[in-house]
Amino acid sequence: MTKLLYLSDSYLKEFDAVVLRIEGNMVELDKTAFYPESGGQLSDTGMLCQGNEEFNVVKAIKQAGKVLHEIDRSGLKTGEKVHCTIDWQRRYKMMRMHTAAHILTMAVQSIAPNALVTGGQLGLEESRDDYSLQELTPEMVKEIEKKANEIVNASHKVLIKELPREEAFKLPQLFKLRDVLPPSIPMIRIVQIAGDVNACGGTHVKNTKEVGRIKITRTKSKGKSNKRIYFALEP
Ligand SMILES: [Zn+2]
Repeated sequence: MTKLLYLSDSYLKEFDAVVLRIEGNMVELDKTAFYPESGGQLSDTGMLCQGNEEFNVVKAIKQAGKVLHEIDRSGLKTGEKVHCTIDWQRRYKMMRMHTAAHILTMAVQSIAPNALVTGGQLGLEESRDDYSLQELTPEMVKEIEKKANEIVNASHKVLIKELPREEAFKLPQLFKLRDVLPPSIPMIRIVQIAGDVNACGGTHVKNTKEVGRIKITRTKSKGKSNKRIYFALEP
């Protein structure tokens, strides 16, 4: 298992690590702050430095509990120490987008309490979330955007904590996940914004204010009871 530094500190931009294994252009480190592509959030990019040698990390992926970093050339060796840097501009945008996705869901559920997230993909310029909604009128879209920005402007803290499985599933919001998350996961990572609680392994900003203005850019019907909302962040 790779130690995942971003889980305890999503603002960590640089770290030192040891190369455990290299296979082709894929590098396994003893620990990492690179977020691997998963859960609709894009992979981090950045750089590994060994002495004066620089290796670009073009992508990080998760494989059997390990994070593999794809680098752009050969030359690294097992056992070497590397200094690692995350492309912070990209990551911070992802953190803002990811937090915005939680806020958008809170806003949707403020007018449609039974709406559930059925899918989603974060992007650097535009992201999308799908909801189990029968209808999504222009008036509803306007109301959702207004509510989302009220949540942003309320400067709520984004709280992260780890709860033992049994305790986590006592929370009504997480009860439905008890059959979804495999029993092999003993601790559940919780993200809490105001009264909203979710199980989430992504990277978030510390305060909703950092998200900036949420703009709903377009919507799309994805079936009778499924609607897609696209959003972007300003500035
Ligand atoms: Zn999240």
